[in-house]
Amino acid sequence: MFIAFEGIDGCGKSTQLDLFYDYLVKSGFECIKVREPGGTILGEKVRRILLDKEMRINSRSELLLFLASRAQLIEEIIKPSLEKGYYVLADRFADSSIAYQGAGRNLGEVVVEKLNAFATDNIFPDIVFYIDIPVKEALRRIESKSKDRIEREGENYLRVVREAYLSMANKRENFYILDGTKSIEEIHNEIVNLYKSFKPSP
Ligand code: ADP
Ligand code: MG
Repeated sequence: MFIAFEGIDGCGKSTQLDLFYDYLVKSGFECIKVREPGGTILGEKVRRILLDKEMRINSRSELLLFLASRAQLIEEIIKPSLEKGYYVLADRFADSSIAYQGAGRNLGEVVVEKLNAFATDNIFPDIVFYIDIPVKEALRRIESKSKDRIEREGENYLRVVREAYLSMANKRENFYILDGTKSIEEIHNEIVNLYKSFKPSP
């Protein structure tokens, strides 16, 4: 099974991914964690470029760099792991590009969907856990950390990104919205319950 965690920075993705990973391992499953951009040698190099505060990157090349990292991750790590029957937990995946580049950079969500399908060879998560929090709360949580190129984008950019994520929920049945302002434990329990009640479509 392939499960992605999505949401703006500071919403709690990494926190929840780690807790869910521990839950699956304790339940006896083989699991791997991957992050985007990154997760492969090429991907980590692309990550350094993408998050570099000094780097000037236009919107189209930004999207293509994310897609290159994703294409490599799918081929090198995700596909072989899924074939072995492992759980793959992804800290961000294709929906991040729809929200951040498609909506946030105004490249168009439909275009990004098509390019995602090309980059991933049509492999998408079985479940997406989207953790929703108000932009102000997210910014408050990451206030003290040193911000990368994308985290330095302003509040308005993040508002557009959040709206794009929220609108995905109406279109897709495997996309679950979690209230990121609840406690870490409450959100974890909800994730476990949603996972347990998930029935893969035939
Ligand atoms: P992300 O990976 O989405 O950027 P993190 O999991 O790193 O977010 O969490 C960002 C910060 O917010 C961390 O300091 C984390 O401890 C804190 N945090 C995570 N979930 C919650 C929550 N439900 N309530 C309060 N603080 C949280
Ligand atoms: Mg994180």
